[in-house]
Amino acid sequence: MEIIDGKALAKSIREDLKSEVEELKKQGKIPKLAVILVGNDKASQIYVKNKSKACEELGIEYQEILLDENIQMQELLDIIDELNNREDIKGILLQSPIPDGLDINQAFKRIKPEKDIDGFNPVSVGKLCLNQDTFVSCTPFGILKMLEAYNIELDGKNAVVVGRSNIVGKPMALSLLNKNATVTVCHSHTKNLAEITRTADILVVAIGKKHFITADMVQEGAVVIDVGINRTEDGLFGDVDFENVKEKASYITPVPGGVGPMTIAMLMTNLVKATRNS
Ligand code: NAP
Repeated sequence: MEIIDGKALAKSIREDLKSEVEELKKQGKIPKLAVILVGNDKASQIYVKNKSKACEELGIEYQEILLDENIQMQELLDIIDELNNREDIKGILLQSPIPDGLDINQAFKRIKPEKDIDGFNPVSVGKLCLNQDTFVSCTPFGILKMLEAYNIELDGKNAVVVGRSNIVGKPMALSLLNKNATVTVCHSHTKNLAEITRTADILVVAIGKKHFITADMVQEGAVVIDVGINRTEDGLFGDVDFENVKEKASYITPVPGGVGPMTIAMLMTNLVKATRNS
């Protein structure tokens, strides 16, 4: 069994990006990220802070737009339009969740596809579905990079994705399908879940329930990717019962130190790509 070291891999990706950022700057292309944060969600504040730190480390310019939780939808759309039209801004990220009463899908749709570094605009999602070049949502993109870095074959393999959210499960399933895996997507209405997860050569879990996937749900030799982030008083836990599942897996990601660091590294990768294309 090998533990997939997302932290080390993300570090090496960031180092490569740093040189690319310097090259782009020499060509007069200055990467700059705009992050919109609406309201006071605590977890979002941590995520946004981590993104600003990553930008700083790579020499990427960064602007944070903090909006009151009572902002009207039209005001939010106007702010996105303004960022769409600014030449200095190469990538726009709207931190989710946004307060109830605001339509996040409408907001994602408003972000210009060229600046949609999170890959949540329907145009980006549609292109992923058609297996065309696009910005892929950072968490699934990071998982693909991890699998690639560890030379894990996907072609013809049975991949099971547990979770079907728009930001993780669905783009993950599409990405694996584009790599010629045979993909099954499970969710809260799935019957006989354990029977299905036991068929997985590659098992990706993104549901948000601490240690939900137990060893009996995993096939011997499976590659297990744990996306879950469950904060408890005792610390941070994944969706997979790591200690027991690792005895059966061929490869497994830890939490923390697995998928999480890769997500930010891929956000930076997408921003550099948007700058290169600008
Ligand atoms: P989400 O939007 O809440 O979606 C959860 C998915 O899990 C849904 O599709 C849901 O099914 C499914 N689900 C819930 N209970 C289930 C059960 N008992 N059996 C089977 N499926 C079940 O969550 P998300 O945004 O995808 O995030 C999932 C987890 O990943 C969270 O812990 C989140 O914090 C973490 N995350 C981590 C990163 C990272 O960078 N590491 C990035 C994003 C998210 P239904 O659709 O039927 O409701």
